[in-house]
Amino acid sequence: MGDHFQTIVDRDAGADEAPRLARRVVDWLVAEGIVLAERTDCVLGQPLGHPPGPNWSRAVAEGDARWEPSDGLAVHIGRTVFHGGQGDCEAVTCPHCSTTTRLADDDWQMIDEAWTPFREAIGTWHDTGTAHVPCPVCARQVPLPDWTWTDDYFAFAHLGFEFWNWPEATPEFRARVCALLDGHRTAYVWGKL
Ligand SMILES: [Zn+2]
Repeated sequence: MGDHFQTIVDRDAGADEAPRLARRVVDWLVAEGIVLAERTDCVLGQPLGHPPGPNWSRAVAEGDARWEPSDGLAVHIGRTVFHGGQGDCEAVTCPHCSTTTRLADDDWQMIDEAWTPFREAIGTWHDTGTAHVPCPVCARQVPLPDWTWTDDYFAFAHLGFEFWNWPEATPEFRARVCALLDGHRTAYVWGKL
């Protein structure tokens, strides 16, 4: 079995407000007993994370509460390309004209013509924090973070709460976390390493 993760991403938090919102969410998670305040070596990809707290099961469905999480919560603050790990992104939707553009064919091969502008923009955003991709249908220049990815495969953001090897968080729990994020758009990125 590999390691799996699920990440609640704040798509709108700027670099300047991310630390404050991160603190608010972690304070709430600690108050609820879902994670512990002191950080330990319990996550992948970061030196330290918050281990599960005594009430971790409040985040998951009742039937999943027998699978105690083996790892903790990594809080990502700062420019991050969140993505679904294994597999490929299938399609992306323009926020203006709502047209969905396929990026992979039926055999999961990336369609070069469609994918290349996104691939290049992802590199640029990673390096500089700004990138646009023109919509192939309405021709508008759309900022990379504003595209909607099928299954939330990607999110380009400055704040994310990444749970490692936890049972699936319930929609209610995710909504409670999102409610602490000043009404921002969010994404739920999950996958496996
Ligand atoms: Zn469009």
